[in-house]
Amino acid sequence: MSDSAHDLLKRVFGYDQFRGPQQAIVEHLVSGGDCLVLMPTGGGKSLCYQIPSLLRPGTGIVVSPLIALMQDQVDALRQAGVRAACLNSTLDFAESAQVERDLLAGDIDLLYVAPERLLTARFLDLLDRSRIALFAIDEAHCVSQWGHDFRPEYRQLDVLHARWPQVPRIALTATADAPTRREIVERLGLSDARQFVSSFDRPNIRYRIVAKHGGPKQLLDFLEPRKGDAGIVYCLSRRKVEETAALLAEHGFTALPYHAGLDSATRTANQRRFLRDEGVIMTATIAFGMGIDKPDVRFVAHMDLPKSLEGYYQETGRAGRDGDPAEAWLCYGMADVVMLKQMIQNGEAGEERKRLEGRKLDALLGYCESVRCRRQTLLASFGETYPQPCGNCDNCLDPPQTFDGTEAAQKALSCVYRTGQRFGVMYLIDVLRGKDDARIRQFNHHVLPTFGIGADLDQNAWRGVFRQITAMGLLEVDNEAYGGLRLTPASRAVLRGEQRVQLRHEPDRKRERERTRAR
Ligand code: ADP
Ligand code: ZN
Repeated sequence: MSDSAHDLLKRVFGYDQFRGPQQAIVEHLVSGGDCLVLMPTGGGKSLCYQIPSLLRPGTGIVVSPLIALMQDQVDALRQAGVRAACLNSTLDFAESAQVERDLLAGDIDLLYVAPERLLTARFLDLLDRSRIALFAIDEAHCVSQWGHDFRPEYRQLDVLHARWPQVPRIALTATADAPTRREIVERLGLSDARQFVSSFDRPNIRYRIVAKHGGPKQLLDFLEPRKGDAGIVYCLSRRKVEETAALLAEHGFTALPYHAGLDSATRTANQRRFLRDEGVIMTATIAFGMGIDKPDVRFVAHMDLPKSLEGYYQETGRAGRDGDPAEAWLCYGMADVVMLKQMIQNGEAGEERKRLEGRKLDALLGYCESVRCRRQTLLASFGETYPQPCGNCDNCLDPPQTFDGTEAAQKALSCVYRTGQRFGVMYLIDVLRGKDDARIRQFNHHVLPTFGIGADLDQNAWRGVFRQITAMGLLEVDNEAYGGLRLTPASRAVLRGEQRVQLRHEPDRKRERERTRAR
């Protein structure tokens, strides 16, 4: 059988060889087994169900949540001579009826269906009267209510197995984290499915993280030597997307905004230009990117923190699909941490979800502050072991200098404590550095023993200390006090001198600038 799979690979898709686990997946599926496929975006998931659909008698039913992508896939398959069709809300009645007739007549090899359509009694009944080759559940992480792509209808897809137990199923996702994987197995009844887990490493992406001190200027420094390259700049808010696009345009870049607040015609037009024209920078919220297949994105820059490591991985993963060198650049500071923590706290979600989001953010902060190889840290968070430091991330290329920051941490913590655990970083730094300031005098903080005890470090260094000890969980953001900082249970051991704190030096600005500009 693998001969004919190979024939199809060559004849229909024009490729000489299967890539990675594709062949094993195809064989498993053709012989009737269920699979769970975890493969990074661009890894080649589609062939894993397209070829078996052609090899097995009947129609391959593909559940996909992305209508726009469905149409692209169907068009590409038809061009290759495959009898492909889709059923979704964009079809009128006559078109749908024709697809249904073709399905019953056995004239369709691959049928793409939106989940809500699949689950209608009418369609399930239609399937009862058709011959089904297999079920493919694409973007299977949509069953997870913790992810931001949650689709309630995905929860009901277990009906497929209940109703057609003899039909093999393949669930596919590029989401790597272990809890999501477990949830897919559980929700879709795939405990007996064979799991095919590819490496999620993206060797051509260089990871780089810098401390924020005037983000727009740093972004311009990063972009200047990359003029003419296509890239994505992610920002947290719509307003910042607009501001950043304007800033870049002012500096001679072709930059377009993309966020959910733009009308759909503008979004489509901007997306089209990004895909078609050369050297366009998309400044966007995370509304942009899912299903975008542009191979030559040379960089992904984050002006704000993503919400989790998984989000960071997905977003940076849009760079360098063509395999050529690409960069993932993230610029973050204390204010981002405060803002994200507040967004979680003030959000609508229930307590359990807030805790989970908090943990995800903490894992991301741990990654940002880590002195280890970024790639090792990132892949480890997906349960993957990367044997050696990668040599292609900032920490490998320019190992950060660390120092015993216990004393600095103690000073910072005691300043937080003595000022009443309700002030923000800038104020605390002013107190530590002994600034002559009306507000400080008004609060009588110029008489505190901590006043001026931090004059040995400059403002930038203190910012680094506060950011790092917050990322370590030694300080937390107090919501009632408008983002003021307060101690945590973990701070006590440090204050008492029972636990030492290792910190990384904030890099010299000039050096950092040189490195940012280097390619
Ligand atoms: P995914 O769905 O995992 O993101 P796709 O199925 O869209 O990935 O495939 C990504 C790209 O890789 C496509 O351009 C596809 O044609 C190509 N591709 C897939 N399998 C092979 C292969 N065996 N050899 C060469 N190119 C492949
Ligand atoms: Zn590395």
